[in-house]
Amino acid sequence: MYNLNSFTIMLRTIHRYVGRSRTYNFRTARNLSSTLNYDIEKYDVTIVGGGIVGLATARELLLRNPDLKLCLLEKEHQLSIHQTGHNSGVIHAGIYYKPGTLKAKLCVEGLKMLYDFCDEHRVPYKKCGKLIVATEAEEIPRLDNLYARALENGCTVSIVEGKDIQTFEPHCRGLKAIHSPNTGIVDYALVARTYGKEFEKKGGTIKLAYQVEDFKQSSDADYPVAIIGNHDYQQVHSRYVITCGGLYSDRLATISGCDSIPKIVPFRGEYLVLKPEMSHLARGNIYPVPNPALPFLGFHFTPRMNGDVWLGPNALLAFKREGYNFFDFDVKDSYEAATFRGLRKLVMKHIGAGLGELSRAASMRLQVKKLQRFIPELRVEDVQRGPAGVRAQALDTDGNLVDDFIFDSGSGQLSQRMLHVRNAPSPAATSSLAIAKMVVDESKRRFLL
Ligand SMILES: Cc1cc2nc3c(=O)[nH]c(=O)nc-3n(C[C@H](O)[C@H](O)[C@H](O)COP(=O)(O)OP(=O)(O)OC[C@H]3O[C@@H](n4cnc5c(N)ncnc54)[C@H](O)[C@@H]3O)c2cc1C
Repeated sequence: MYNLNSFTIMLRTIHRYVGRSRTYNFRTARNLSSTLNYDIEKYDVTIVGGGIVGLATARELLLRNPDLKLCLLEKEHQLSIHQTGHNSGVIHAGIYYKPGTLKAKLCVEGLKMLYDFCDEHRVPYKKCGKLIVATEAEEIPRLDNLYARALENGCTVSIVEGKDIQTFEPHCRGLKAIHSPNTGIVDYALVARTYGKEFEKKGGTIKLAYQVEDFKQSSDADYPVAIIGNHDYQQVHSRYVITCGGLYSDRLATISGCDSIPKIVPFRGEYLVLKPEMSHLARGNIYPVPNPALPFLGFHFTPRMNGDVWLGPNALLAFKREGYNFFDFDVKDSYEAATFRGLRKLVMKHIGAGLGELSRAASMRLQVKKLQRFIPELRVEDVQRGPAGVRAQALDTDGNLVDDFIFDSGSGQLSQRMLHVRNAPSPAATSSLAIAKMVVDESKRRFLL
């Protein structure tokens, strides 16, 4: 007994120092610790994923059900360092999305909820507005369609004629633009951490460095989901589980018996940054008229809360799900992507645009040339390379981008107990509070909470 106890203590000490290091042999430790006593913590609902969607969901669930015992598990040592901490920081107004879709509805609702939340919790933001600018005559019909769509979605927008563009953006040129005064900017990692603080203040538990590796049926009928993580001396058992795993949302779903489709394919988005002395070139967000044949909104000017101005992001296929550097590579992620029929189809559909993105990614001169359509005085000397983010893009087997939110539970043994949020694409940060309401409604319906 003495030996077992000291061995348990030794394992705990090793774990404390090693944290979530992937070089630590968890499987060996798990086999050993299966003969030992490990702590089991029990919760009514466990949320997996400490990005903005998971944290907003955890908060909303606790606000509506203060008596529930809730836990949130995050694999990193900090909250919200992936998509939530690597994005443009734009509070979108809901202009682009097809009227009547969830994406449109949740964005318009989410924007209002987010501004109210920031006011209440003193999270700084700037309502710096946005111009979507047509610089070629052929873009004007598309701009007009976008304007009609924005009105249908209930956005506050106005048309700006070419000669008036400079009253909003003194350095910008164009033929015609849409002005959105309610578009803003914020630090989404700070917003998400503030959701987390409120969750903890109301009694929720957040466990960092807890990487979920499996879901198993436990022997406890009241808490039937055993959430197997990298903590071999500790297990979390739960009555119900909601996963919001971002770039790993498909893998979390498949380990509980769901289909592997839609699959997440990572797309890196790299930014350039205006040198500080040139930040005056853009006061607010300046966007191109999006090409409806392409999935992303196009390279744009976005001011940041610290006064910087970012240009981007582009969209390049990544070889690693959380690969923020050009040469980041992961064998499993790359193999999965390369052998996925949906991705091959997508690449064939957009091969021209993809090659264009690649050449502009390699040459700042080419990228700047594209941006000079909006700000002719911009020079390549005015920009430097900036950070990158990775988008979790869900794809079906025909190479179609899955545009809206998807819930899944699968059909396995644990399906009655699981709710996976499999796709939360941009503008999910803007819409996070509205998405959380929808996820909690869905969980109440499925779990009868
Ligand atoms: C380049 C870029 C620009 C964008 N710009 C905007 C914008 O301007 N405005 C906007 O509204 N949206 C924008 N988005 C989209 C927005 O950032 C995302 O939709 C949103 O952050 C998704 O949040 P999430 O919580 O689903 O994912 P994430 O923030 O990625 O969080 C998922 C979390 O789950 C954790 N996790 C994964 N697997 C496990 C596991 N096995 N165990 C435990 N934890 C796990 C991860 O570590 C991570 O913390 C942008 C995205 C990108 C990439």
